[in-house]
Amino acid sequence: MEQENKNQLDDVQRQIFDRISKNDVDGFQQLITQLKGCVDFVDGDGMTPLQHACCKGNKEAVQTLLDMGADINFNKHGADYTPLHFAALSGNMEVCRLILDAGINPSSLNSVSRTASQMAAFVGNHSCVETINNYVPRKTLEYYTRPQGQHKEPLIPPGLLDAFHHFVIEINLHPVRIALNLQSLGLLKSLPGLKKALEYMCEKEMKKPNDVNELMAFKFHYLRWIVSELMRCDEQCKAQRKEKSSEGDAGKHDFVELFIKRVLKENKIGQLDYLEFTLRECVREFPFRECTVFRQVVSQLAAKDPQPALLVFRNAINGHRGFGDETSYCSSCGNEKPDKKCSKCKQVKYCDRECQRLHWFMHKKTCARPTSNASASTSTSAAKEAIDTIELQEELSKITSS
Ligand SMILES: [Zn+2]
Ligand SMILES: [Zn+2]
Repeated sequence: MEQENKNQLDDVQRQIFDRISKNDVDGFQQLITQLKGCVDFVDGDGMTPLQHACCKGNKEAVQTLLDMGADINFNKHGADYTPLHFAALSGNMEVCRLILDAGINPSSLNSVSRTASQMAAFVGNHSCVETINNYVPRKTLEYYTRPQGQHKEPLIPPGLLDAFHHFVIEINLHPVRIALNLQSLGLLKSLPGLKKALEYMCEKEMKKPNDVNELMAFKFHYLRWIVSELMRCDEQCKAQRKEKSSEGDAGKHDFVELFIKRVLKENKIGQLDYLEFTLRECVREFPFRECTVFRQVVSQLAAKDPQPALLVFRNAINGHRGFGDETSYCSSCGNEKPDKKCSKCKQVKYCDRECQRLHWFMHKKTCARPTSNASASTSTSAAKEAIDTIELQEELSKITSS
């Protein structure tokens, strides 16, 4: 009888591995709920269902297994891959994030002395590399949600801890995305506290007794800069409202819109765009001038034909993606692989209608139907030269992919 039960159990386990390998989520969910108890069993290669699900980049299966108490540190297969190594190889950044949220140590080495992030870089999974390298454990942010010293109020309201965490670990450094995230995460009311918290976080990274993380320090400084620019826009909008004494749209986040327009606005050739100007100011304000990242960024911005500052920042914080990068980006916020196109010209891509709407005031100057005649294309060529980094990247990627 006991043997029969064991055989039945073995059979269920085998089927579970089979469902994961076929990415059959429904079948997997049905079977796994039949199991009572431990989900850390192994197949012939010593791999657990969690490791297989990570390998497949199957977010739902990974979430289910974590909810059922799968052990992220369980290791029986001999190559010392953590679930994060498998997730990094799968290329699914959301799975990487789930495993990181579950508390994996991202510096764990496999049997060939590679971290998960190094493995991801090796196979060109850039978004996984960035997700892992930009990760900050939620727990380390709790400090800012508690009152410190003589202050009665914390910098970040405790109810916004999750939002704060999301904001900090975001890998897209485009100012428009940062502003939109602050809005959608409900953080716009806490900008002053957020600015202060980011200032402390930057300082903390530089003053760690061991493993100083200059790149994260620079990232936090940059985020703080964007937050303070948003606050400046807020002040300006408030002052304008006072002048007009129009109470109708009080409370509306018109300053976010103002900021986004500033960022996306391209000036005539020869004039410095707001984005370029403010990012250079941001570098000047970085307090740790001895560190490598600072010197690297300064020397690149001071070069004869410097790359756009946003690209310099991105490369400094997240590393070069290399010429093989064929990813397309949203023309408004820089998100990867947007799936909407401008329906008129089909030349630019967006995440959604909101991104398209925000970019239209600039894009309408260059948007034309593909059937446009030669004279139209010469008149747009000047404007095209001033095109934003991200769009340029997109154009480049099109050329390389065709
Ligand atoms: Zn977008
Ligand atoms: Zn268009």
